[in-house]
Amino acid sequence: MSQNPPAKVGFVSLGCPKALVDSERILTQLRAEGYVISPSYEGADLVVVNTCGFIDSAVAESLDAIGEALQENGKVIVTGCLGAKGDVVRKTHPKVLAVTGPHATDEVMQAVHTHLPQPHDPFVDLVPPQGIKLTPKHYAYLKISEGCNHRCTFCIIPSMRGDLVSRPIGDVMKEAEALVKAGVKELLVVSQDTSAYGVDIKYRTGFWGGRPIRTRMTELAAALGELGAWVRLHYVYPYPHVDEVIPLMAEGKILPYLDVPFQHASPRILKAMKRPASSENNLARVRRWREICPDLTIRSTFIVGFPGETEAEFEELLGFLEEAQLERVGCFAYSPVEGATANALAGPVPEEVKQARLERFMTVQARISADRLKRKIGQTLTVLVDEIDEGGAVARSAADAPEIDGLVHLPRSRKLKAGEFAQVLIEDSDEYDLYARPV
Ligand code: SF4
Repeated sequence: MSQNPPAKVGFVSLGCPKALVDSERILTQLRAEGYVISPSYEGADLVVVNTCGFIDSAVAESLDAIGEALQENGKVIVTGCLGAKGDVVRKTHPKVLAVTGPHATDEVMQAVHTHLPQPHDPFVDLVPPQGIKLTPKHYAYLKISEGCNHRCTFCIIPSMRGDLVSRPIGDVMKEAEALVKAGVKELLVVSQDTSAYGVDIKYRTGFWGGRPIRTRMTELAAALGELGAWVRLHYVYPYPHVDEVIPLMAEGKILPYLDVPFQHASPRILKAMKRPASSENNLARVRRWREICPDLTIRSTFIVGFPGETEAEFEELLGFLEEAQLERVGCFAYSPVEGATANALAGPVPEEVKQARLERFMTVQARISADRLKRKIGQTLTVLVDEIDEGGAVARSAADAPEIDGLVHLPRSRKLKAGEFAQVLIEDSDEYDLYARPV
């Protein structure tokens, strides 16, 4: 009996960790239904492109990727944040088969079914229980919610992804358990606003392993901490209840690492940005966190040159950096995003002033970051080895999230295995990275 060759789908995944999780869900569903994932455009029967629409350069990259897929393959389905931005995709690439917004696995699957009939008999057994992951085997992003209830004036994510919808805590825990069982050593908790987890469902009580557990960040962090993997919290805003997770860090239940996008330090600018927790005294909060957990690494991002930012307000931000001594910091010069309400604010900062402020900011932070890393020389740290190559090994400590933070560089050694933990002695440091040897 002759059998039709399996239907093959190519996949291009762009954007942030939240988009990556959307890609993983679509890939998992495709595999669950018996589709084969093609590693090349030519071998694929159609291509799905998961896009990013956050800033203008991401829009351009996404449109290029769609163009390339159309040229190389011809049958293209577009999903992701750019898909939610009106007609942008169809205007540039009228030949695409379908366009959906982000977290739209069902719509993408419907479009796939329309243009590439479903293979006979789904081989559900072929899909590993933890789903398909695009990250290396030893770490995984765990998305706990979709959307956001805030309306920061520089951001269009809520208009693309909608209001906050928290995943049931039982489902999140089941996924986390399956990941750890499959060998994942580090869980990266992501969402638009991790501190708001459960607000939309009034912190409803769910169940995990027959045990009642509230849908709330602290309870989630404590439960994840029982799984025996590294647990890293991203996108946490400085609300008072965040203080509750710091003892879990001090006790070693979850990583002493907090990704808090402060964005600015001037109360007036934070208000103009409509930032969550904008009226909190962030400096006092940072100090209290460090008292409870002295090993805490704080990661943050900032925007300089926001409309109306005066020299004095910028200097207030530099003063905050000096006082807060944050370990890991990213900074962007403000750039208007199409559709953001901040575009209408008075007093746009001239481009050269923005760039000069960005440079001044980075100079101050590079010194702080280098100082803080230098203090680690002589310490023995646990690291997770990401990669081993000819030249040696690249690992990360508790202070380093993948992709965005620094690295721990190691010489080649038989003691090191990719995807495994190792104990290392820190011997040197620079502005962003550490240099160590295994012990
Ligand atoms: S918290 Fe603000 S910046 Fe973050 S997704 Fe929500 S609106 Fe955008």
